[in-house]
Amino acid sequence: MSGVVERGAELMGLKAPNPVVRALDDVSLTVAEGEVVGIVGESGCGKSTLGRVVAGLLQASEGSVLFRGKQLDEMPGKSADEARLKVQMIFQDPSSSLNPRQRVREIIGAAPLHHGMTTARELDDYVSQQMQRSGLDPSMAGRFPHQFSGGQRQRIGIARALAVQPDMLICDESVAALDVSIQAQILNLFLDLREQLDLTYLFISHDLSVVEHISDRVMVMYLGRVVEEAAVGELFSHPNHPYTRALLQERPSLDPVQRRFSAIEGEIASPLSPPSGCHFHPRCPMAMERCRVERSELRLIGPGHKSACHLND
Ligand code: SF4
Ligand code: MG
Repeated sequence: MSGVVERGAELMGLKAPNPVVRALDDVSLTVAEGEVVGIVGESGCGKSTLGRVVAGLLQASEGSVLFRGKQLDEMPGKSADEARLKVQMIFQDPSSSLNPRQRVREIIGAAPLHHGMTTARELDDYVSQQMQRSGLDPSMAGRFPHQFSGGQRQRIGIARALAVQPDMLICDESVAALDVSIQAQILNLFLDLREQLDLTYLFISHDLSVVEHISDRVMVMYLGRVVEEAAVGELFSHPNHPYTRALLQERPSLDPVQRRFSAIEGEIASPLSPPSGCHFHPRCPMAMERCRVERSELRLIGPGHKSACHLND
């Protein structure tokens, strides 16, 4: 799919009149039922846009989103709404996505009640079940979001998503705002829920360790394009694309003494005017003349392993 999506300040930190950014450029993504697909890349690479298009929060200008083989925008209104309900998004900052004036019972219970998944009589039980699943004490259903810790608030967001009985969760930096120890708890909750509820995930993160922990398959994005895709073990043991290799080298060590925060050489270009040819060429240590002029297409380089680099020719 391609997405010419109007986004101003958020994407590139400047405001232009009607900036039109090609945030996604010929991105094709298939997620199998029960699979966890990780999307990794620096900020501005289009991974959030991709998540929002899949979740139906943004419309791609070209291409389409298929749900169980059916094109979402061609479904009659009601079944499209039902299909959309099956794909829920978990955001980075639970605080800003939870209404501070609503009690947890209402936050979790409003949508399933509205959609007839439970009744007013059974609502308390229904909410309790979602809270338990998400690792929250159901006796706290009468409290407000600010009475919970950051990790617990993210659990409320998860319980709210689960309450509409989704098949797929799109997690956009869903653990990025949390302490490392809490991150691990939430990631393990996602994995447990996958087992219990047969959930499918699109897991978007700038953090390679997080993606490695949770994903079956990983797509690496750079400036709106997928540059590499492989099963998680293959990607981390045999990275092919110079950008992926740079990301892996730059990965902060778990040992704080060895931790390095140096960025990959050069700045990520503006998505408003991405470099010609291979978008990565201004930063690539292996760049050749050809890379400046010729687009590098994503193609198969091994079983289930795709990369978009001219070096593979
Ligand atoms: Fe580097 Fe060229 Fe490969 Fe792009 S196509 S990653 S510039 S070698
Ligand atoms: Mg983002």
